[in-house]
Amino acid sequence: MSDRYVQPLRTLLQICFVLFSLWVGFQFARYIGAVEAGAPPTVARPGGIEAFLPISGLFGTAAWLKGGGINPVHPAAVVIFVTIVVLALALRRAFCSWICPVGAISEWLWKLGFHRFRRNPALPRLLDVALRGIKYLLMAYFLFAAVTWSLDSLQGFLFSGYHAISDQKLLSLFLRPSGTTLAVLGVLLTLSVILRNPFCRYLCPYGALLGLAAWLSPTAVQRDRERCVSCGVCSQVCPARIDVMHARRVADPECLGCWRCISHCRVQSALSMRLFGRRVISGLLFALLVVGIFWGGSVIGKLNGRWQTMITPDDYRQLLGR
Ligand code: SF4
Ligand code: SF4
Repeated sequence: MSDRYVQPLRTLLQICFVLFSLWVGFQFARYIGAVEAGAPPTVARPGGIEAFLPISGLFGTAAWLKGGGINPVHPAAVVIFVTIVVLALALRRAFCSWICPVGAISEWLWKLGFHRFRRNPALPRLLDVALRGIKYLLMAYFLFAAVTWSLDSLQGFLFSGYHAISDQKLLSLFLRPSGTTLAVLGVLLTLSVILRNPFCRYLCPYGALLGLAAWLSPTAVQRDRERCVSCGVCSQVCPARIDVMHARRVADPECLGCWRCISHCRVQSALSMRLFGRRVISGLLFALLVVGIFWGGSVIGKLNGRWQTMITPDDYRQLLGR
């Protein structure tokens, strides 16, 4: 079967995850709105909101690995962080191209730009490499802190009032944006129409970390040199600008696992997603694994009581000074 169906399937999943993220954000806004108004919340706080606290997830995971257990302040942040790293170890950066709402919106914006201007210009190579260094520097900074901080220091952060209401702070950043926030968002959105995924490619330390994890992944796009007719379509459609046409196996940490190269290849089986370079993984199986691993992680977290925060509405009120 041709792999063209993978792109509409991926878009469908992206839409589902964007809508789900909006629903989670809306529920959390209702919860916090009631807390701030001094009324009893009429909706439960959605634990999934902690997917938007990656630094909490990283530091919480570091504290857990150092023997401090999973912090009860934002436990879902740890569960989601670990799940996404496992997903990258298994299926490269599939989180970025199948699940992440920021990745989905970035992709829709550069496609809109391509539709409008018939191209997405690439930055000069040296500038592109230098800018990509930003996300690795940010990642190194956070990783260095997570690894070198003592357990006491990590716990000091995780049990601080600042960390407890970091979810509310993030929400108010979007609900009550400052002029600077709006200006930064405006620049990023505009650049996202012109370039391919500038935020993910240059600024996102989470993506950088997942790229490193993906290096260890046994799954990768593989090119069959006998079948390939060197048409170059795969390299043209790759959002990460990887020269797929000249690769034997795409092990680049920038590979998003999006399947665009495979879906657009004109020669049956010239490109395929393979496990350990041998076993072919179908698009449908890949999609099922992406969703299964992602949801499976949250189910395991919930079943083990590592999902809901210990912070009560009264705690929130007190920390917010209401
Ligand atoms: S190499 Fe293929 S799967 Fe990887 S990012 Fe490029 S188009 Fe997507
Ligand atoms: S799109 Fe397929 S046939 Fe064309 S260069 Fe890439 S792998 Fe080869």
